Amino acid sequence: IIKVDSTIPNKSIQSNEECVTNIVNKYSKEANTKYIKYLKLIDQARRNYKPCNENRCNCHAGVMSHDLKIFKEKGISEKLINNIKSKGTKYQIINHKLYRDPNCMFPSRCVGIEHFLLEIVSDLPDMEFIVNTRDWPQINKKYGFFGPVFSFSKTDEYFDIMYPAWAFWEGGPAISLYPRGIGRWDNHRSKLGKLGNFTKWDDKIPKAFFRGSRTCSERDPLVLLSREHPDMVDAQYTKNQAWKSEEDTLNAPPAKEVSFEEHCKYKYLFNFRGVAASFRFKHILLCKSLVFHVGNEWQEFFYSALKPWIHYIPVNSDATKEDLKELLEFAINHDELAKEIAENGYNMIWNNLKMKDITCYWRKLLKKYASLMTYKPKRDQSLIRIKQ
Ligand code: UDP
Repeated sequence: IIKVDSTIPNKSIQSNEECVTNIVNKYSKEANTKYIKYLKLIDQARRNYKPCNENRCNCHAGVMSHDLKIFKEKGISEKLINNIKSKGTKYQIINHKLYRDPNCMFPSRCVGIEHFLLEIVSDLPDMEFIVNTRDWPQINKKYGFFGPVFSFSKTDEYFDIMYPAWAFWEGGPAISLYPRGIGRWDNHRSKLGKLGNFTKWDDKIPKAFFRGSRTCSERDPLVLLSREHPDMVDAQYTKNQAWKSEEDTLNAPPAKEVSFEEHCKYKYLFNFRGVAASFRFKHILLCKSLVFHVGNEWQEFFYSALKPWIHYIPVNSDATKEDLKELLEFAINHDELAKEIAENGYNMIWNNLKMKDITCYWRKLLKKYASLMTYKPKRDQSLIRIKQ
């Protein structure tokens, strides 16, 4: 008996036997085609899938345990904090008041972080911690120094502790459509969530779509495929602040920026890493379109709740144009499966990435962190009080 997960429509939850019947038997005439490998991967993913318990941001709880595990044995000492204090901005919570170093490298990012900290400060014990507001994580496992640094995104090569990015509230990338930064996930979530729900799958344009700047060349094969097969893919580079010439948009004029709402018109959407993880992922999953997620190295705190072939189509980061074309053709030829995966992805984000899940994650994370501290922090007079 399989536990029914409310994040996934019942019809896509199947027992092992049903999986075999539905996936392999249903498409048995394809046994010798190039698609059988994808069908088997879906089948296997469904067998292994264990729905998470959705209460109190529990779907993401394994991530904070994983990130804090390294501090479990010896705890977090003052010496460890001193090792890494130059890696980010210092915060203190003393007597349920929030304090911060007067200098924040990216002020709007600090505001985005503090929005959540101020919501929970009355529940938290005294503590101090270092928050990295750069895109890039700081504590590479190969470096000689070590200590607890909070970063929004990392790969397995880093010891950083992941926290929910500032951009859930403020300070995301500023583009012409979102001049003050993408920010305000609550607004995007409600708008895109409604749109995702009301746009019928069959009314979506049966094409793959991507708009974004060339923050990472892993995006090139899709843009090149789009130039060869505009009937199948519309993927174009936009300008970012670093744009100097058409070389930065792969030798083509930059395309106009497109809102997230416009993305939802398309059946297939692509997510790629940028400098670190891209904020795009959560937004496009809410379109209830099928998301192709390229590369699995760069993570945010909520990524591990999303499972390949269940919530999205995984794509290797070194996929060629030909690989992408074959995967897209697979999706086009298996419309029902594509629709199910799109719905699963939508449900996971809609149900488990509410504003209250973000606050919940911060609260649990900082309580766990504080329980590992081996000293009682004293008020640092060089810090300033942060208020609503
Ligand atoms: N973006 C957008 N429409 C566009 C181009 C970008 O909504 O036409 C969003 C994109 O989804 C991402 C942010 O702007 O969340 C920055 O995108 P970019 O590709 O420049 O950088 P990334 O952060 O993905 O590396």
